[in-house]
Amino acid sequence: MVKRMVYADNNATTKVDEVVVQEMLPYLSELYGNPSSMHLFGGQVEKKLAEAREKTAALINAQPTEIVFTSCGTESDNLAIHSTLMSSPEKRHIITTKVEHPAVLNYCKQLAKQGYGVTFLSIDRNGLLDLNELHDSLRDDTAIVSIMYANNETGVLFPIDEIGKIVKERGVVLHTDAVQAAGKIPLDLEKSETIDLLSLSGHKFHAPKGVGVLYIRRGTKFRPLLIGGHQERGRRPGTENTASIIALGKASELAFAHLNAELTRVKALRDRLEKELLARIPDAMVNGHPTQRTPNTLNISFRYVEGEAILLMLSEVGIAASSGSACTSGSLEPSHVLRAMGIPFTAAHGSVRFSLSRFNTDEDIEYIIAQLPPIIKRLREISPFGREKEEVMD
Ligand code: PLP
Repeated sequence: MVKRMVYADNNATTKVDEVVVQEMLPYLSELYGNPSSMHLFGGQVEKKLAEAREKTAALINAQPTEIVFTSCGTESDNLAIHSTLMSSPEKRHIITTKVEHPAVLNYCKQLAKQGYGVTFLSIDRNGLLDLNELHDSLRDDTAIVSIMYANNETGVLFPIDEIGKIVKERGVVLHTDAVQAAGKIPLDLEKSETIDLLSLSGHKFHAPKGVGVLYIRRGTKFRPLLIGGHQERGRRPGTENTASIIALGKASELAFAHLNAELTRVKALRDRLEKELLARIPDAMVNGHPTQRTPNTLNISFRYVEGEAILLMLSEVGIAASSGSACTSGSLEPSHVLRAMGIPFTAAHGSVRFSLSRFNTDEDIEYIIAQLPPIIKRLREISPFGREKEEVMD
C-alpha cells in the first residue's frame, strides 16, 4: 500500500511552487549572465532582477529601492541589527523579546557578551508582550528595538504598529522579523510607517532556500556587513544569486495572489484541525493566543507525553510536523518560547506544531485527525510522566 504523506511543517520550510521552479530554471542554464555585465547576457538577467525586485516590493507594499536581497532570513536579521549599531556607535542598548528566532536571540546574546546592554522583554501565558514593559525599557542610548511580527513556534502576532508608535516616541529604530508573516497575512510598509527594517525569507513562502530580503525604509541610516562591490547599491555586495532572486520574485507574486486563500481556506483547515483534536484528545491545550495568530499555525500540547515520541509516530504514518522541544545532549529541553509563556512542564514537553500551507487539503486534515488520537492514547499508556506533575518551567 502506498503510504499517505502529509506535510504539515510549513513554518520550517515550504515546497517550492512548481510555477516558481519553471520561472527560475532558465537562469540556471542558458541565461547564466552576470547582471553587472554590459553585454547581452548580463542585460537579460538584469532586467529580470529588476522585475523580481518590483514583485517582492509589491508583496509588502514597499518601493523597489527599499528591497535588498540577502542569502536568508538569518542574514537579514543579523544585518538589520549590525547596521543599526554601526550607524550610531554611541548607542549601546538593544531591546528584543525572549521569544525571537535564534537569528535575533543568539545574536543579541552575543552582543550582550561584547558589552552591549540588551533587554529581553517577557511575554504572558498567551504569548503576548506587556507594552508598558517595552515603554519603560526604552532608554536614551537605545539603538534598536527588534521584535518579531509572527512567532515561528506558536504563530502569535505581535501588534507591530502599536509597538512602532511607542518606539517612535523615543526616535528609536524599529526592526521586525517578518519571516513567518510574509504570505500568511497582509504586510503594508506604506501603512506601517514606523517599521524601519523588516526581514523576509524565501523558503517560508514557496521560493527556494538560500534567498532572503532585508527591507530598508528610505532615509534609514545603513552600514553594510559585507564590504565589496556595488551590488544591491553597496548594501549587500556579492554577485547576485540570480535564479533564486527571480524565484523569490515569482513566489512573492503568487503569495500576494493567494493571500485570501491563506486567510480563509488555510485558516479554515487549521481551525478544523484544532477543534477536532481538542474534541477527540483529552488533556490537550492550544499554546498561543486564541485569535491573534497566523492563520496556518497550530501549536498544541498533549499532556503526559513526549513531543519527540509523537513526532516519530506521526512520521511513521507519513505525517510531518514539528515539536516544541529540542533534544540537546540527551536531555529534552522544552522550547524557549513555551518556557517564556510559562506553559507547565508536562504540557511543554508534549507540544506539537502543525503548520499548513496552500498546498494542504481537507484530506490531509482528515488523515491527521484520524491518526493522532490513537497515537496519543498509546503513548500515554507507556508515559513516564506522573499525572501529578504540574510544575511551571522557569
Ligand atoms: N526568523 C524566523 C521567525 C524564522 O522562523 C526563521 C526560520 O525558521 C528565520 C528567521 C531564519 O530564516 P532562514 O532559515 O532563511 O535563515
